[in-house]
Amino acid sequence: MILSNVVLHTSGRGEWLRRRPAPFWLTRHERKVMANLTRRNFIGVGVAGALGAAGLGLAGCAPQKEAEESLSSTGPDNLVWDEEYDVVVAGFGGAGGAAAIEAFDNGASVLVLDSDAMPGGATSINGGVIQCAGSSVQKAAGIEDNVDDWFDYIKAMEGPSFHEELIRPMTLETPENVDWLIGLGAEIPAEIHPSATRNIPESGLYFNDGTLDFYPDRPPTPRGHVLVGQGGGFLKAFTNGAEERGIEIRKETPVTDLVQDESGRVVGVIAESGGKEVRIGAGKGVVISTGHFNSNEAMVATHIPYVNGIEFNSSAGHPSAMGDGQRMMARHGADMVGMGEATHTLSKIPQETTIRSMHVNAACNRYWSEQGWHNDHRGSMIHKQPMQIAWCIFDDNIRAAAGDAEDDAIQCTADTIEKLAEMCALNPRALADAVARYNGYCAEGVDLEYAKDPEFLIPIEKAPFHAIRLRYVWMSNGGAHIDPEAHVLDPDGNVIEGLFAAGACAHGHKSNMFNPGSGLNMAWGIFTGRHAGRNAALGQ
Ligand SMILES: Cc1cc2nc3c(=O)[nH]c(=O)nc-3n(C[C@H](O)[C@H](O)[C@H](O)COP(=O)(O)OP(=O)(O)OC[C@H]3O[C@@H](n4cnc5c(N)ncnc54)[C@H](O)[C@@H]3O)c2cc1C
Repeated sequence: MILSNVVLHTSGRGEWLRRRPAPFWLTRHERKVMANLTRRNFIGVGVAGALGAAGLGLAGCAPQKEAEESLSSTGPDNLVWDEEYDVVVAGFGGAGGAAAIEAFDNGASVLVLDSDAMPGGATSINGGVIQCAGSSVQKAAGIEDNVDDWFDYIKAMEGPSFHEELIRPMTLETPENVDWLIGLGAEIPAEIHPSATRNIPESGLYFNDGTLDFYPDRPPTPRGHVLVGQGGGFLKAFTNGAEERGIEIRKETPVTDLVQDESGRVVGVIAESGGKEVRIGAGKGVVISTGHFNSNEAMVATHIPYVNGIEFNSSAGHPSAMGDGQRMMARHGADMVGMGEATHTLSKIPQETTIRSMHVNAACNRYWSEQGWHNDHRGSMIHKQPMQIAWCIFDDNIRAAAGDAEDDAIQCTADTIEKLAEMCALNPRALADAVARYNGYCAEGVDLEYAKDPEFLIPIEKAPFHAIRLRYVWMSNGGAHIDPEAHVLDPDGNVIEGLFAAGACAHGHKSNMFNPGSGLNMAWGIFTGRHAGRNAALGQ
């Protein structure tokens, strides 16, 4: 075991912290502890680490009673590492896997710590899609595509909070990242799966975006690259890559805090292993890749409360998505961005039915063309409706055409539109008017409101009538502000030396406007992960 001493002094930064208000999502107790820490001029470890970190040096003035109980150990300002590596990666999902492999390939000794008994997080259970334009897989399938169109599309979807400085390099590098992933053992067949409903196929290429809706002059392009084995395919590739290189992935070892030296550089982590605390030095850098915060109820209630308490909405998170990375980085001075944003995706409901139906909000107004767009866009549209209420209304002809398999999803059935409206808590007259108007468009073959494709304009006329409440699943968007090299930045835009963030705990590829479709998270995770790993290894 290699031992070294790190002296943790904090004069200048303690002053800075005192002036900076505590992040508002800290608990009352955490705020008190933070106040004590700053009074003591000690910020080597953050609040959670300080709470559990015996012997990490908490000497100073008398703390308040509550904090004193938690901070009973006041050891020296010296920290002895239990182990040392060049690069420590917290979390082995897609982003952490990419970071670890890239760091190793750039000459670093690497340790991965994961809180779970089965590392992989959301990556391991996802749909297996990586979005890309201009890939070798597309070329092999005879598809001409280009990065500029993809970039324009993402920009149009994300609106004002689009991060050009991050998305431009991501779109440019993703074709090479897809080849890199294939080099790790991922399989993506060069087969195109045409589908009006844009469902994710088992593997291959599919049309996963709304290009047609935004750029009618440009043909839709299959940019969804689906791995064989879907999320398991990603995990297999990263696990193979790590095993081939002999990179250790230490399970059930959550990182609980970061360690900064007197200059503010992140020099290691505190982790928990078998109920004991371990201190692991990271001579060149720490990569935080711990995922979303969907499963942390307190964080969700604080940052994205609108997704809570709405009966029909549900989280698409993984149990490990506790926001540990976001909280650790915030405690150590990172600028947190997009914490109040989420990505909304239509949850799995009958595609054949919904595309042929009429969708209305709580005021019985249609709000879009009901067709064509990927689930992610549909989810975004529901989120934007008053009270996030949206219903899919259809008749018995549409039900019969969709087949028995879709019957289970029906929530309300009635002999008349007015009775159906009452069951859905909608205004009966307003719904009857909306249906009459929609049936008029069907008769004319022209949708005067949203230009729905006549193929899907089917009148709602044969009783009984049916309704399905449309709902979305969501994922947190918020994370550390990073630069294109995955350095974590403080609120003044300065790099926090030695600290990198990748994947879902780094913000930049999503906005609250429209979700550009499946596969962007993995493009982002691999882009940021590889940059983080490479720069940490090279000390850049
Ligand atoms: C059902 C579902 C389907 C999806 N489909 C797609 C899709 O097809 N394409 C796409 O691009 N996106 C998809 N997404 C989103 C995507 O999977 C995630 O955004 C992405 O996987 C996040 O990757 P990550 O590496 O940042 O985090 P994760 O993959 O969640 O990995 C985080 C890892 O960190 C570990 N961890 C957490 N806390 C700690 C800690 N304190 N210390 C150490 N380790 C810790 C976890 O155990 C986990 O292994 C989907 C998500 C879900 C839930």
